[in-house]
Amino acid sequence: MEAKLIDGKDIATKIKEELIPELKDIKAKGIIPRLEAVIVGENQGAKIYAGNQDKACKELSISYKLNELPESTSQDQLIGFIQQLNENPKVTGIILLMPVPSHINAREVQMKICPSKDVEGIHPFNIGKLVYGEAVIAPCTALAVMELLKSTNVCLKGKEVVIVGHSEIIGKPLTLLLLQSRLESPTPTICHIATKDLAFHIKRADILIVAVGKVGLITGDMLKEGAIVIDVGINKVDDKIVGDVVFDEAVKKASFITPVPGGVGPVTTAMLLKNTVEAAKNIGK
Ligand code: NAD
Repeated sequence: MEAKLIDGKDIATKIKEELIPELKDIKAKGIIPRLEAVIVGENQGAKIYAGNQDKACKELSISYKLNELPESTSQDQLIGFIQQLNENPKVTGIILLMPVPSHINAREVQMKICPSKDVEGIHPFNIGKLVYGEAVIAPCTALAVMELLKSTNVCLKGKEVVIVGHSEIIGKPLTLLLLQSRLESPTPTICHIATKDLAFHIKRADILIVAVGKVGLITGDMLKEGAIVIDVGINKVDDKIVGDVVFDEAVKKASFITPVPGGVGPVTTAMLLKNTVEAAKNIGK
């Protein structure tokens, strides 16, 4: 039997619909959410992200402003700009768009974003909250994977979850989100570039999450029969976008699978909006 498709667009629409009454409430309290993005230099990729964010914000009438700084902007100037946004009470969320020019230390700049305005959930304060199971704002893609899993209605308790990829925005925070409840927690294993026998781990995964960025990394024969497969990878092949999992093979073995595109991507954008709403609630606290 073929796997059921997890429809990311559908899930994203529901998340956005649920945000509408919340937005109404915070606006009634006089808070106007405003997300400000910062781009340094000319980068088409970053501009595409900005365009998508602008469009998503418009859907919910959240104000979005893109600040385009010249390539010559120094590290200190960029930090100074971020500090101005931190101090501006009208700005409720801040995002530094990647990539930045090579002379910019992005991590250092991101650490300067006020944690209460950190809509990407990557500031050490927000990551620390995640460790304690108290996160309100967390990395968008990790949150998106949790929503996709929730949509299957499969109980996570006692399940073997294998995550391939251990980045700060996906694998690591996702592990913490999965461990948030002692009673319902599955057992996560994180694999990465230095994992000796990737196939051994994948074979025993009830739930497999792949976030690497390598076409064809996971083939159908590697999967456990009936596994849930969440493909986070985004790869461009000719003019098509594909994931890290060989979809046509995996769909025959899995019970649920995300398509690429149309799986994790739209839900990640919806979680950015959710984080933006949560950040706006911090104003005046
Ligand atoms: P990253 O480069 O920071 O991390 C890649 C991870 O893959 C690392 O942990 C690395 O150890 C691991 N890895 C590399 N080669 C491996 C191999 N052969 N076997 C096992 N592990 C291997 O990347 P990232 O920012 O975490 O992004 C990962 C992928 O997810 C990319 O394709 C990216 O485009 C995509 N992504 C998608 C979304 C979305 O919304 N769908 C959001 C963010 C990133």
